[in-house]
Amino acid sequence: MAYTGRCACGAVTAEIAADAPIAVRQCWCRQCQQLAGGSHSTNAMFLTENVTITGTLAAHAYTAASGNTLTQSFCPACGTPVMAQVSARPQFRTMRVGFITPPHDLTPQMVIWTDDAPDWAVFPEGIDRHAKQPPPPPAS
Ligand SMILES: [Zn+2]
Ligand SMILES: [Zn+2]
Repeated sequence: MAYTGRCACGAVTAEIAADAPIAVRQCWCRQCQQLAGGSHSTNAMFLTENVTITGTLAAHAYTAASGNTLTQSFCPACGTPVMAQVSARPQFRTMRVGFITPPHDLTPQMVIWTDDAPDWAVFPEGIDRHAKQPPPPPAS
């Protein structure tokens, strides 16, 4: 068991049976700015089959710029963002890194939706930047 997760109040927990994420991305899209309180979200993608959630999630779904339905899940008791999933890629769960219990090795490898970032945003040096949505990762 390589990663565990817990919301702020403990009503939602997770176990992630993976040695490493498929991708870790910092996202500055408008929806992430809303859920993250003004800055970017940081997200680690795992195979759905490796993610076990305990507890009840609340969810909000919307149509993303890609046309896909994006579902954001959070703890209904404390509001901690837990994960997102995209209708076109049900094999992946995108876990909010703030939900993952430290210490862990999840570090952003890519910044996406920089076009939506505010002028004061600072992006990590030395990693790829995408103005909008990058291509999906290869299935593994
Ligand atoms: Zn909670
Ligand atoms: Zn986003």
